[in-house]
Amino acid sequence: MGLIEKISAAGVVGAGGAGFPSHVKYSAETEYFILNAAECEPLIHSDKYLIRTRAKDIVDTMLIIGKHMKCSKLIIAMKKTYTKEIEILKQAIGSHNIEILQMNSFYPAGDEQVMILEATGRRVPIGKLPKDIGVAVSNVGTVCDTADALKDIPKTNKTLSVIGDVKIPSIVEASIGMKVSECLEKVGLLNSEFSVIMGGPMMGKIYNCEDIGDLTITKTSNSLIVLAKDHYLLKRQNTPVQHLINQTNSACIQCRICTDLCPRFLIGHPLHPHKVMRNIAFGNIEENPVFEESLLCCECGVCDIVCPMHLSPRRINQLAKRTLAGKKFPKGELRDPEIHRSQRLLPSYRLVYMIDVNRYKEQVPQQTVTFTPDTVWIPLKQHIGKESESVVKVGDTVKQGDLIAQIATNALGANIHASISGKVTEVTSQYICIKK
Ligand code: SF4
Ligand code: SF4
Repeated sequence: MGLIEKISAAGVVGAGGAGFPSHVKYSAETEYFILNAAECEPLIHSDKYLIRTRAKDIVDTMLIIGKHMKCSKLIIAMKKTYTKEIEILKQAIGSHNIEILQMNSFYPAGDEQVMILEATGRRVPIGKLPKDIGVAVSNVGTVCDTADALKDIPKTNKTLSVIGDVKIPSIVEASIGMKVSECLEKVGLLNSEFSVIMGGPMMGKIYNCEDIGDLTITKTSNSLIVLAKDHYLLKRQNTPVQHLINQTNSACIQCRICTDLCPRFLIGHPLHPHKVMRNIAFGNIEENPVFEESLLCCECGVCDIVCPMHLSPRRINQLAKRTLAGKKFPKGELRDPEIHRSQRLLPSYRLVYMIDVNRYKEQVPQQTVTFTPDTVWIPLKQHIGKESESVVKVGDTVKQGDLIAQIATNALGANIHASISGKVTEVTSQYICIKK
């Protein structure tokens, strides 16, 4: 089997974002292959851990992917503050033709469109994909999973950092389908009542401890951050959207700071969150072309935290995006990037104060632990595309690594494998349950 067949068989998908199937991404030919090692959000440590422990695998696999995609330029983009990881990568690269791009530490340095501009000087035209301008971007976890796939190891576990209000900040190797609550219990919590972010503090989803019963570790999990039960981020996320609209109508002063610091505006996209906020007073999202701009929003949340009136352009953009789902991107040309862009980037060290997570900024994982639970609930959709189709039935005995669900016929998707050995006890349209 070649690269594409192996990663398709192993069920590799984008390990940090929405889970785009890698066998589709790597089927293109591009000039650039960029390894996104910037770990966009604060308080996530999984990529740094993978670089420290698997640098040779990462470099070897980049060379294989680059050769397959006929790339002439291989770049590892990471923050210049990752000095230890940069040294380790330099040693692993040796004389190979891979450049390390040392980026300033700002948020969102790992945003795909921002990183492409920083690494290549190119910008993705509106409505197009990176491959249309000869660029492919993958994150560290995806390349490590590809390295495993090349050794015929399917995707059955996830490396994630677990920090915040926990007894020992940890790197956890967890079986896919393990309950988040069990994972947190095993790490040890400081408080019985808490909230938890799956992902980063800016773009991850935050849950009250009472609402995590059904949450499981998936192929795209990379971080759990435990915070206080009444943390400001939880309150902010749970504010009803109608309340936000009312607040906007009465308090938006049209200062346009949200626009002037919006990372997508800064790279030249026709996205003006202050205009979206002005127009929400009139409703009618489907008919008003201003809201088409919202389709360009990457939901990074910079606008929310810089708004002097504590409004939420991001949530209003999310509302518009949901309302306009399925609509094409607005027609429009990219402007040149803003000339003051470099002075308007949000420094990562300030971000942690602005979102009230500064007390965890010095926390680093102190142990690496592997959790293999007795029961897993493996979701059939952990990727962009269609749910995978089960190939097992209740009562079947499976071994860890066995195929249990495959890509739906003629659809975008990914194979799914048993993450523990045991008996299949439940097969639903959403998950497969396996008990030891
Ligand atoms: S920053 Fe806040 S107050 Fe200013 S225009 Fe944007 S939403 Fe309105
Ligand atoms: S969330 Fe706000 S800052 Fe981020 S891209 Fe959307 S409008 Fe711009």
